[in-house]
Amino acid sequence: MKIGIAGAGLLGRLLAWNLLQRGHQVTLFERGSRAAELSAAIVAASMLAPYSEVVSSERCVFDWGRMALTWWPEELAALEEITGQHVDFGNKGSVVVAHKLDESSLNHFEQQLRGKVQDCDEFIERIDRRRLAELEPELAERYHGGLFLAEEAYLDNEALLISLETAISKLGGKWREFSEVQSVDAGKIRLANEDYSFDWAIDSRGMGAKVQLPALRGVRGEVLWVHAPEVNLQRPIRLMHPRYKLYISPRAGNRYVIGATEIESESMKPVTVRSSLELMSALYSVHSGFAEATVLHAYAHCRPAMPDNLPEIKCADGLLVVNGLYRHGYLLSPHVLESALAMLRKSGVGQRYA
Ligand SMILES: Cc1cc2nc3c(=O)[nH]c(=O)nc-3n(C[C@H](O)[C@H](O)[C@H](O)COP(=O)(O)OP(=O)(O)OC[C@H]3O[C@@H](n4cnc5c(N)ncnc54)[C@H](O)[C@@H]3O)c2cc1C
Repeated sequence: MKIGIAGAGLLGRLLAWNLLQRGHQVTLFERGSRAAELSAAIVAASMLAPYSEVVSSERCVFDWGRMALTWWPEELAALEEITGQHVDFGNKGSVVVAHKLDESSLNHFEQQLRGKVQDCDEFIERIDRRRLAELEPELAERYHGGLFLAEEAYLDNEALLISLETAISKLGGKWREFSEVQSVDAGKIRLANEDYSFDWAIDSRGMGAKVQLPALRGVRGEVLWVHAPEVNLQRPIRLMHPRYKLYISPRAGNRYVIGATEIESESMKPVTVRSSLELMSALYSVHSGFAEATVLHAYAHCRPAMPDNLPEIKCADGLLVVNGLYRHGYLLSPHVLESALAMLRKSGVGQRYA
């Protein structure tokens, strides 16, 4: 089938690569370039944190999110096979810490978490300083312990988006970069001056779909990317703090993604001084080695969210709409993708190699 996809961020790329593998002809329309510089996907810390996230989410986020932990390694291996490009996947768990004065925030977090995932209690470990020293030696001087969430993971989103672009091109997907889509309807993608017809049209424009999805809202998030040669962390770290919740997600070469603010605003203006100060002072309080870090990027974007903060998938003859991944794009896209593909199959978008 001929399939047009509006929006080549995370979902658009995943759908394109999966549909191409099934033998369909795919054209991607993206208002930016194929580097994905206008997407929320490039800004994200790309942590796969079903335990940490379920504390403030519905239980289904945990169940769908856990699937991502086995799904991504398989998908990344399949991508590497076709592109020869490796995408880092860190699966050594994550650590949650709090300063002594904020111990109650950590206790409350643990209580809520255990209450929500009683069936997976064995993957939540209360750790003392000795165990912390085994996991993250550089944090053991400052913290007397914390929580170890053994199943949590992260991936390298920059490498993933590049690898998906390569795979899509290799499988014959067509790119229409710098193409601002005006509307997406059944079998039709409309630009300012041209209409394109397909058997199916897919709307995966994230926040860009708001004109056609009025219930969609943006939740602003800001992150800093730093290079910290004096810091050696093995896994994502979360700091429980009554005001500034902070996470640090590692990347190769002593780089770290520091995030993230969460503001009910659709402003896409650059990172503010206030947010930078909050993130940086919380960061320095975790590890003094961050004092000498250099700031590589300061990014702001909006997380596309529906009123219930859960994903939305609508599939009717000739039109698939996928959106609302909120702060869980990498965590929930495996579930959303598989559900969307199943709906398409039911609607007659079959596989060439059944
Ligand atoms: C600060 C921050 C941190 C995050 N951290 C995490 C995390 O740790 N873990 C996690 O799982 N998720 C995280 N997320 C969430 C994740 O990034 C999003 O849920 C995900 O990127 C949404 O994917 P999407 O494909 O729907 O949208 P996007 O990735 O934004 O892609 C949409 C694409 O559509 C294009 N587009 C928009 N309008 C048009 C138009 N009119 N015409 C053509 N193209 C258009 C855009 O340019 C973009 O490329 C984070 C998000 C933010 C902002």
